[in-house]
Amino acid sequence: MNSPQDSSRPQAPVPQQVSLVAEARVPTEHGTFTMKLFKEEPSGLEHVALVMGNVKGSALVRVHSECMTGDVFGSLRCDCGPQLHFALDEIGKQGSGIVLYLRQEGRGIGLINKLKAYALQDEGLDTVEANLRLGFPADLRNFEVAAQMLSQLGVDSVRLMTNNPRKVATLEKHGVKVVERVPVRSQSQSENHHYLATKALKLGHHMDWLPEYIPPKSEDDGPSKLG
Ligand SMILES: [Zn+2]
Repeated sequence: MNSPQDSSRPQAPVPQQVSLVAEARVPTEHGTFTMKLFKEEPSGLEHVALVMGNVKGSALVRVHSECMTGDVFGSLRCDCGPQLHFALDEIGKQGSGIVLYLRQEGRGIGLINKLKAYALQDEGLDTVEANLRLGFPADLRNFEVAAQMLSQLGVDSVRLMTNNPRKVATLEKHGVKVVERVPVRSQSQSENHHYLATKALKLGHHMDWLPEYIPPKSEDDGPSKLG
């Protein structure tokens, strides 16, 4: 039987299906892309694939989750904006590749809850603790939909621009071969320092160009130097 659920919170994952519903040419400062819009059912979410050039073979791919504050407004609280623009720039330079822009704001908790989490972070919690305090997992994002979109684009092998080992694992689990992980070298500054440290130390992101953010190899490695 169904247990009562707070309708403002994301529900448990249900099998979803994406279908291509519209596409158009979108010239950008990084070059000309074809924007392909996929609709996910039953959620109705509209995900975007920005595709440039020939993407057969091992395409350069970024799987990017929507972050209005970072992507649009240049928020310094996270590194989403620079990561997105790095990816678009690399694809532009190479003349081919794909950015999948997934509409799962705030690591999947939505904009309202992301802002609530930011307020908690300003009281001293880190990004993971804030999500947990609000009753969410650390990361609610679903990357299976990315594998479905790649499949429909005829792409079964990618060079993935990410620091996040979970994205690599999820794509591989759903039939996309990740032949290379291309690091996205976010820079640390005072506003995002704690956020980047938390991603490295609690969510296992690779940031070995910032030596202080190398995740512990095991539970036994002791407490974080970052406090
Ligand atoms: Zn962000």
